[in-house]
Amino acid sequence: MSDCCSKPSKKPLEACPQCGIERKPVTMRTVYQQVRFPENQQIVADNYYFCPSRGCSSAYFSSTGNSIAKSLLITQQAIQNETLCYCFDISSACYQSALQTHTADAIKNFVIQRTKLAECACEVRNPSGQCCLAKFKQLEKESAVSSKFINDQ
Ligand SMILES: [Zn+2]
Repeated sequence: MSDCCSKPSKKPLEACPQCGIERKPVTMRTVYQQVRFPENQQIVADNYYFCPSRGCSSAYFSSTGNSIAKSLLITQQAIQNETLCYCFDISSACYQSALQTHTADAIKNFVIQRTKLAECACEVRNPSGQCCLAKFKQLEKESAVSSKFINDQ
């Protein structure tokens, strides 16, 4: 597995100043790969956290008051489309419907296989910098409990 998929962050969470929900840290590498030009020229080096909420305008924020809006991200549209896997362009809706038609295993196995061969790029493609496989499991659980809509975290 590549680094992004094998090492979940153990750093403490930080509350998003926009929505108040505690969020996970990201690396500067992720921030630099996500912010558009020319705004990427203005990024202040800091310890940033990512807010994944579609309803929150803040993408990255730091405890010292630096913040970067979602509108400045390359993945802005993908976030709004509830992308599940940014490396291989798989949406949550697509995976949910695959779960309902029992064709989800092939999709997930494809992602697991790519991940094992370090052919994913979560740290730069995913605005959270994290591997998406945990999200796949989360959707499976939600789909098993009920087929209701997923929440935003
Ligand atoms: Zn937020």
